[in-house]
Amino acid sequence: KPNARVLKDVIRTIPDYPKPGIMFRDITTLLGDAWAFRRAVDELVQPYAGAKVDKVAGIEARGFILGGAVAHQLSAGFVPIRKKGKLPHETVRVSYLLEYGEDEMEMHADALVKGERVILVDDLIATGGTALGAVELLRRLGAEVVAACFVIDLPDLGGAEKLRAAGVDVRTLLAFE
Ligand code: IMP
Repeated sequence: KPNARVLKDVIRTIPDYPKPGIMFRDITTLLGDAWAFRRAVDELVQPYAGAKVDKVAGIEARGFILGGAVAHQLSAGFVPIRKKGKLPHETVRVSYLLEYGEDEMEMHADALVKGERVILVDDLIATGGTALGAVELLRRLGAEVVAACFVIDLPDLGGAEKLRAAGVDVRTLLAFE
C-alpha cells in the first residue's frame, strides 16, 4: 500500500540540536498524533501480550510517556528511573556514560521485588549508555529484565548491540542510519 502511514514519517528531525552537527529525533510529533501514539505503543507491547510482566521501567523523561502507556496496556506497574536528586525516598544510584562525559540516575530502592519481570522503555537508543545504566539498576534490585524497548534505534552508535551483548532482549521499531 503506497499510501500506508508509517511511524517514521511522523518523527520530526531537528538539525543542530542541542549542538551543531547533531540530528535530533523529536518524538513529540509522534506523541501528538493520535494514530501514531497508539500505533507505537501497540507495536512496543505486541510480543509481550499475554506474557507475565510485573513492571515497566521508564527512563526520564520521554520514557515516562511511552512507558506509562505500555504499563497500562500490559496491566503492569510503572517504575520511574530518574536523573539523580529527583526521587524523594531511598534510592539506588548508578553512574552511566554519555557520548561526552557521564551522569547519574536513580530508582527507588523499594520499587521492585527481587525476581520481578521488568520491561525497560525509552524513546531512543543511541550509544546505549543510558539503557545499560538502567539495566544495571534494575538487576541490582534483583529484577529479571525481560526486554528493553525503544521506538528509535540509531544503529550507527551501536547501543542496541551493546545491550544485546549484556544479555538483554532489545526491541526497536524503526531506525535512522
Ligand atoms: P544513549 O545513552 O547514547 O543511548 O542516548 C539515549 C538517551 O539520550 C535517551 O534517553 C534518549 O532519550 C536521549 N537521546 C539521544 N539522542 C536523542 C535524539 O536524537 N532524540 C531524542 N532523544 C535522544
